[in-house]
Amino acid sequence: MKNLRVNFERLVRDLEELGAIGQDPKGGISRPSFSLPDLEARRWLRQKIEEAGLLYRQDGAGNIFGRLPGTRPLVVMAGSHLDTVLNGGRYDGSVGVLAALECLRRIKEEKVPLEKTLELVSFTDEEGNLVGDFLGSRAFTGQLLTRELKTARTQFGQPLEEILQKAGLSVDSVLRAAGERPDLAAFLEIHIEQGPVLEEEGVSIGLVSSIAGKRYYQATFVGRSGHAGTTPLELRQDAFITLSDFALRATQLVARKYYGNTITIGRVLLRPGSFSIIPGEADFTLDLRSQEPESLRAMEEEVLGLASEVASTRGLSFYHRLVDSTEPVRTSEPLLNGLKALCQELGYDYRLLPSGAGHDAQILSAVCPVAMIFIPSVDGLSHTPEEAINPEDLEKAANLLLQALISLASE
Ligand SMILES: [Zn+2]
Repeated sequence: MKNLRVNFERLVRDLEELGAIGQDPKGGISRPSFSLPDLEARRWLRQKIEEAGLLYRQDGAGNIFGRLPGTRPLVVMAGSHLDTVLNGGRYDGSVGVLAALECLRRIKEEKVPLEKTLELVSFTDEEGNLVGDFLGSRAFTGQLLTRELKTARTQFGQPLEEILQKAGLSVDSVLRAAGERPDLAAFLEIHIEQGPVLEEEGVSIGLVSSIAGKRYYQATFVGRSGHAGTTPLELRQDAFITLSDFALRATQLVARKYYGNTITIGRVLLRPGSFSIIPGEADFTLDLRSQEPESLRAMEEEVLGLASEVASTRGLSFYHRLVDSTEPVRTSEPLLNGLKALCQELGYDYRLLPSGAGHDAQILSAVCPVAMIFIPSVDGLSHTPEEAINPEDLEKAANLLLQALISLASE
């Protein structure tokens, strides 16, 4: 079985077919979970799974599975997600699902004897268009709170329950998804790197050593509005100047004391928002990430402390609310060693690297060992219509996944 390879032309055709679903007139692909294009992509995937002779199933969270039974029910799972951000690219998520599909097809065609069961998966709403990232994998692993879901509204302003209904699902069915989970031996995910490292170094395969954890806060500095002409500088409680001061000092703090971690203020809204009025309020998002749980917690505490300190020094108030949170995880050492050995056998160049972005594999790590295979992103781009990959890199990653699945399922 060592010389078994994927049918790469077929995988490329699948990517092209899927890439035609959800093309946005404004550019790229818009396929948020349970939108019409997403529902179409789901039907398309179901058809592919059934054509391949795999057993199709959907759980209460809308996660889609294609199963190739082995002697034992214990499952080795591979996949990713088919949903995209608005105006996203063709490869984020898709390559992971379609490479897994192609691997299972080849294994079935060649009648490779399987001790364990193989299953491909496409998780619902990895991108968090509905209610925070990883709805599907969080449901699958039992990491959702009933209270949050019942009251949740999506970023498109609709109650979650209403959107789920259109797909024949409900908040209750989402919460039941964890009960339908099979016993898992391992989870493997191919994904685009979404950064520049692999391309920069001319390496085809990235083996992910750890996945960053995240804290996402919605925060506000509240001061006092006033006339831009009549209020002397020293008597102001300017929320924008306070935010600017905080942004610079917090970034310097992270760069100096928590090097390798990140801090990002990605969205700012000033009120009242007029050229002639001192902004009395600054709403902003605060995104903190780290590969280390301890470091993430310490940075979070210090950055929030700094915000309060900057606010009080300048006579303002600081408020914050945690919107989303994930823990940093290490991928499985034994899986990583297996992948390294396979890369050497296959003659593929690889390097280890951490993932700064979150992935379903991170969520799955709560219930089984996980590993991730990255392929280089052209120019490091993702979440844009310009997202691209080199076909040779995907072919190598898919063959690596194929050999890894065979080896894991034969044990
Ligand atoms: Zn993704």
